[in-house]
Amino acid sequence: MSPSATARSLDDAAVVAAAVVSERLPLKAALANGRGHAAAIAASRPPPAELDASSLVFMPTTLVRSVPEPGSPEFCSQSACTDHMVTVSWTESHGWSCPEMKPYGPLSLLPTASVLHYATECFEGLKAYRGFDGKLRLFRPDRNCNRMLVSSARVALPGFPPRELEKLMKALLAVDGPKWLPRSRPGTFIYLRPAIIATHPALGVQKPREALLFIVACFLPCLDEPGAATAAVATTPQMLSPVTMKATRAGLKLLASSDDMIRAWPGGYGYAKIGANYGPSLVAQAIARERGCEQILWLFGEDCYVTEAGASNFFVVWRTREGAVELVTAPLEEKLILDGVTRGSVLDLARERLCGGGDGSDEKEAVEVVERMFTMFELAEAVEEGRIIEAFAAGTA
Ligand SMILES: *Cc1c(COP(=O)(O)O)cnc(C)c1O
Repeated sequence: MSPSATARSLDDAAVVAAAVVSERLPLKAALANGRGHAAAIAASRPPPAELDASSLVFMPTTLVRSVPEPGSPEFCSQSACTDHMVTVSWTESHGWSCPEMKPYGPLSLLPTASVLHYATECFEGLKAYRGFDGKLRLFRPDRNCNRMLVSSARVALPGFPPRELEKLMKALLAVDGPKWLPRSRPGTFIYLRPAIIATHPALGVQKPREALLFIVACFLPCLDEPGAATAAVATTPQMLSPVTMKATRAGLKLLASSDDMIRAWPGGYGYAKIGANYGPSLVAQAIARERGCEQILWLFGEDCYVTEAGASNFFVVWRTREGAVELVTAPLEEKLILDGVTRGSVLDLARERLCGGGDGSDEKEAVEVVERMFTMFELAEAVEEGRIIEAFAAGTA
């Protein structure tokens, strides 16, 4: 992109070419001379390359596409993406290749690609906003990038410096943001979806040796316009938020999961944003919808611990039997729930602003913020005893 970035990518190309050459020459010798040389070749091979956003190569689109109108069928299809996408391929032996920003379009995969069979996939979701001050913003993208590394590791996908992923997301936003989040639409957002998939074409169940990281930016319906939430909830599985609750006025209805529908368990992967968590949750979600609920309230174990709501974190504000006001949500330690960026932000804000009962200028009661396992039975008792103040789901929607 910048002259130095171009120079960098040339350097990298030269390094790769050099590696290929140096690999070829001794290989002949190795064939002639036996194993000792093979070890020497392996030792002389450059280490796999790190993900490096500064070597990004930009191939601008030549298509002229228009930005969909908010509320239009295209906008609401949840598949309308911007002009470009970022892709970076990875192999076990060479590491990450130069990232490319190129026209949005289909990926090419062999039918034997690991991801299509073994769900070797992880993803992230965060919004880029056009502020009322005209600026483009991401919300705590570093947290999403750190979390993607955790998720990637859980399904034997490659590691990367999270900062480099963040730089690639920002590069995509820098190129597509100005057009697709126009200044004439302050307060709007676009959803960034980075993902890593194992492209390794081999049906053996094994750690993938080839993968692809990609980032796309997609329009999703805005849930904070009155009426939008109910319509959108029907089409956006994970999209529940405090905003949704406000917009649907009557509140969210959640169906408690049954014991043959368990989202996550100790030693499992409920804490990772990997495809394997979501496909199997859709039957329960469909049952919830049939029963007139927006989402599933995921319970765990015989004690019916309350964990998450759909693909969002779940909070309850109640009065304890001792009379204190408490904001309670499931803890991270058990690794049953996803460490939501919104969850963390709600907790930070509540601890900062509500714990002391305000700044003394008003008479608001202090709220105790608690991360602990709590059960459906506790919840039911609190309802019976009239101690529930509110409950809400929080996530990027
Ligand atoms: C994505 C997700 C959340 C919410 O995470 P945010 O970072 O707040 O968007 C919560 N639970 C699950 C299961 C999720 O997939």
